[in-house]
Amino acid sequence: MAEGYHVIAMDNLITGDLKNIEHLFKEEHFEFYHHDVTKFVTVPGKLDYILHFASPASPIDYLKIPIQTLKVGALGTHNLLGLAKEKKARILIASTSEVYGDPLVHPQTEEYYGNVNTIGPRGVYDEAKRFQESITMAYNRFHGLETRIVRIFNTYGPRMRLNDGRVIPAFMGQALRGEDLTVFGDGSQTRSFCFVDDQVEGIYRLLLSDYELPVNIGNPHEISILEFAEEIIKLTGTDQKIVFKPLPKDDPMQRQPDITKAKEILGWEPKVGREEGMRKTFDYFKSLSREDLDKKEHRDFSDRNRY
Ligand code: UDP
Repeated sequence: MAEGYHVIAMDNLITGDLKNIEHLFKEEHFEFYHHDVTKFVTVPGKLDYILHFASPASPIDYLKIPIQTLKVGALGTHNLLGLAKEKKARILIASTSEVYGDPLVHPQTEEYYGNVNTIGPRGVYDEAKRFQESITMAYNRFHGLETRIVRIFNTYGPRMRLNDGRVIPAFMGQALRGEDLTVFGDGSQTRSFCFVDDQVEGIYRLLLSDYELPVNIGNPHEISILEFAEEIIKLTGTDQKIVFKPLPKDDPMQRQPDITKAKEILGWEPKVGREEGMRKTFDYFKSLSREDLDKKEHRDFSDRNRY
């Protein structure tokens, strides 16, 4: 909208929250459709760009809503590709570092084919996203559709969902409630966290570029989960302890994007360091009410193997 576009947002709100877009309702150039994209999608008038981000994106969600996760990546993508073809619109598909599974190549380049357990707990997400890339390239090659594929690595920032079980909201919620921080496994697994403003800038540049093959967008600054827990304790100024819980099945041991392509093709690289990004994110979590923080559903996720 800041670039002057008229924006239509669509969500079935299965994991999303209207509170996150409330501030946009007063804008003339914003509309919201409450719709599930796995059902036929129809939008009146002209469309220039479609950005398909619909999907649960937390390991807890794949375990709780596995069929919807498969359907939105497969049927939802098919519907939106059909809409793009009908409207002669360019479509950008949000893929994920999960297409690399538990990677045997490090850092992950776009050429790596991945190491995915098709029938494991994450298989419903990973395979839906792999299918999504395939059908997108098929529409590109067979129908000549203008397509873009971003592979998003772990991203965080204000307005993350407190109760989704992912590591950043989990640690911040625990710190604010005065609970111990739950590190899964021995915490030697690594992740590389990208601040949301950087992610959005990378995606926007990809959308406007001419490049049709997948591009990694993420922050290559890698950290082990144990070190990360220690950083959060320092940042939040709390004196929480760290407790160890079992490592969930198929939890990738290492993850770091190779962003050479994004640098060369899009002239993009992340600008926000972890300290600054985490501070902004913590400010957001601090602004939530005690009632929100205490909701039982927010605290049920310390043992993922249960699901
Ligand atoms: N994790 C953790 N404690 C938590 C939640 C997550 O140690 O309370 C670990 C998890 O096992 C994984 C990493 O943090 O190794 C990142 O998990 P997240 O769910 O955020 O995303 P993933 O990258 O696994 O999809």
